[in-house]
Amino acid sequence: MTEPITFDIPEAARATGQRAADRGLCSECFGRLFGRLGHGLTNPERARRVTDLLGHPPLGEAPECPVCGGLFGRLSTPWVDRVVRAAEGVEWHRFTCGSRWDPERLAREESLWIEFGTEWGESARSAFNRELGKKVEAVTGAAGVTDRPDVVFLADLPVGRVELTVLPVYVRGRYRKLDRTLPQTRWPCRRCQGRGCDTCGGTGKTYPTSVEEIIAGPFLRATGAEGTRFHGMGREDIDARMLGRGRPFVLELVRPRVRTIDLARMQTELAAEAAGRVEVLELRPSEAPEVVRVKEATPEKSYRVGVVGVVPVAKVNEGLELALRQAIAQRTPTRVAHRRSDRVRTRRVVSARVVEAADGRFTLDIRTEAGTYVKEWVEGDGGRTEPSLSSLLGVPLKVEFLDVLEVHDTEG
Ligand SMILES: [Zn+2]
Ligand SMILES: [Zn+2]
Repeated sequence: MTEPITFDIPEAARATGQRAADRGLCSECFGRLFGRLGHGLTNPERARRVTDLLGHPPLGEAPECPVCGGLFGRLSTPWVDRVVRAAEGVEWHRFTCGSRWDPERLAREESLWIEFGTEWGESARSAFNRELGKKVEAVTGAAGVTDRPDVVFLADLPVGRVELTVLPVYVRGRYRKLDRTLPQTRWPCRRCQGRGCDTCGGTGKTYPTSVEEIIAGPFLRATGAEGTRFHGMGREDIDARMLGRGRPFVLELVRPRVRTIDLARMQTELAAEAAGRVEVLELRPSEAPEVVRVKEATPEKSYRVGVVGVVPVAKVNEGLELALRQAIAQRTPTRVAHRRSDRVRTRRVVSARVVEAADGRFTLDIRTEAGTYVKEWVEGDGGRTEPSLSSLLGVPLKVEFLDVLEVHDTEG
C-alpha cells in the first residue's frame, strides 16, 4: 500500500507535524491537521505522508486520541449500523449526515490547532459527517447530498444514537370541486377543537370530509405518511364550486414511508373515491419551494354569480360599467374576521357582464383581482364594501350561488 512520497508540504506544515506527531493523535485526526493540503488524499494518507517525511513511525487508530477519543476508528461498524437501522422501513435515496458533538471535544480540537499552529485544519465534525456519509453510500447505494435529501441522519455522539428526520414528499395538481358542501381543508369542530364531542358526533370535525381529505386518502394509503398539509392557491367558500381548469394546490405528505408514487394509479383511485365531488387534474411531483409560490400567488379569478334582485337588465349593465371604472374599498367581512385581520383593502373588478336575466334574478360573469370578496361586492356587506353593486344600483341584492370559473395563474 505504500506509495512514493510526493506530498509537497510547506515548511510551516512540517513544524506543525513535528509538534503534533507524538501527542497520541490517531491517523485520521493527525491527517486532518493538513486537511486543506494534498487534495484528493484521505486523512490517514495525508498523515502517512507527513510522518514519512518527518521520518516518524506511522500512526494508527489510537483509541485514546485526544481529539476524537477513537471515534474515527469505530466509525465503520456501529455508526453505519445505527444509520441503517434508524431508517428501517423507510424509502430513501438521497441523504444528509450531521452530528451532535460534546462541545468540550470541539473546543479541545480548536485549542490543539492553535497549539500546533496549523492553518490547514478540517474540523472533526465535518470530517466525521463526510466519512460517515461515504460509508453509508457504500453500504446502501443511496446518494449523500447537501440539497433536497429524502432523510437527514443526526448522529448524536455523546448519546450514541442516530436521529432520523424524514422530509416530506410534495405533489402538485389542480382540483375541481363540484360539490357545494365541501370545505377545502379539514375543519376542526369549533366546540371541541378536534378532540371529539357531542356536537360533532365524536368526529372532531365540523364537516364530514374536505377536498384535502378526499385527495389525501389514496396518497396516505400508498405512502404510509403520518399526515398531510394542503396548500391551495387561495380557497373558495364551502358552498362555491370550483370549475374550469381547477385550483392549483400542493399536497404535502408528512413523514412518508414510501416516496415513489404511481401518480397515474393515484388519479384512478381518486376518481373512484371522490365520486364526482372532486376532480384532480395535472398531478405531478413537486418540491418545497413550490408551496411558497402557490401560497404567495395572487392570480385574478373569474366567477359566475347568481343574484336575486329586482332590477332591469339595462340598469344592471349601467351599474357594472360604473363598477369597472372605480376601485372598491373592502373592509374584512365579518364572516372571515376570525381568521383575517380587520382592515380595508382596495380591489378592482376587471370585467363583468350579465349572462342571463329573468324574473327578479340575474347571473353575472365577473373577473376580479386576487383577494376580492365577491359576495360582499355584490351585496355591500352592510356598507363594509363601498361601492358595491347593490349601492351602485340602489337596490338590495342577494347572492344565490357562486362558482369559481377560473383561477388565472400563469402556469399551464
Ligand atoms: Zn482521532
Ligand atoms: Zn366537537
